[in-house]
Amino acid sequence: MRKKIVAGNWKMNKTLEEALILTSEVVNMVRDEVRGDVEVILCTPYIYLPVLQKYVEEVDRISLGAQNCHQKASGAYTGEISAPMLAALGTPYVLVGHSERRQYFGETDELLAEKVKIALANGLKPIFCCGELLEQRQNEDFIAIVKAQITAALFDLSSEDFGKVVIAYEPVWAIGTGLTASSQQAQDMHAALREHIAGQYGAQVADDTTILYGGSCNEKNAAELFACPDVDGGLIGGASLKSREFTNIIKARM
Ligand code: PEP
Repeated sequence: MRKKIVAGNWKMNKTLEEALILTSEVVNMVRDEVRGDVEVILCTPYIYLPVLQKYVEEVDRISLGAQNCHQKASGAYTGEISAPMLAALGTPYVLVGHSERRQYFGETDELLAEKVKIALANGLKPIFCCGELLEQRQNEDFIAIVKAQITAALFDLSSEDFGKVVIAYEPVWAIGTGLTASSQQAQDMHAALREHIAGQYGAQVADDTTILYGGSCNEKNAAELFACPDVDGGLIGGASLKSREFTNIIKARM
């Protein structure tokens, strides 16, 4: 059985004080209101991870994730954070290949393959983000483009390692724009990606792979998106910065 996950990507938002307030509110609401087997992940700025750890420990189903990691284990890479550092903090998840990393920091699928490997080698679970640009959706075989991102970054993993990866399909045109993929568009892509994974790793691994949808998901559209058979949860940006809305999205996945 694959996991249901709702992950929040805070991006570069919140002061420490605001981060503590948001986390306490989410922890309290999830503890009091969320039932069932949905797992909640807060992908916060790196500097808050050690501070927030004790807050999220209060509720079993909540854990932390980083938003990135460097592809090397250590060395002269000023300003960077490594997978072993995150692992030593006890951070279980790391986002890899968010479209903002691809777009503003030039991250390629080849680089992302290295990041996925170093994350796994250090016991972190990568949440691998993929998705097409608007021009690609309008003019190209966009399903093939997203499949190729997965092939390039993930398909030389062993099945055991692949089984630790969460996929987040995030159409770039829907991220932070208020435009959401329709539930049919999301389902079509998720089903195509699951079939692609089955072609490489077999039906059982594909069936066990958690595939999240991300892109302007909010408390109004979450239930419809999560009702799709191949949509296992969400990666939530803007709406994860508001505790009530984020909790409502989690409840839509219960
Ligand atoms: C994201 O950053 O991963 C994301 C999906 O953002 P938003 O929900 O704001 O579109």
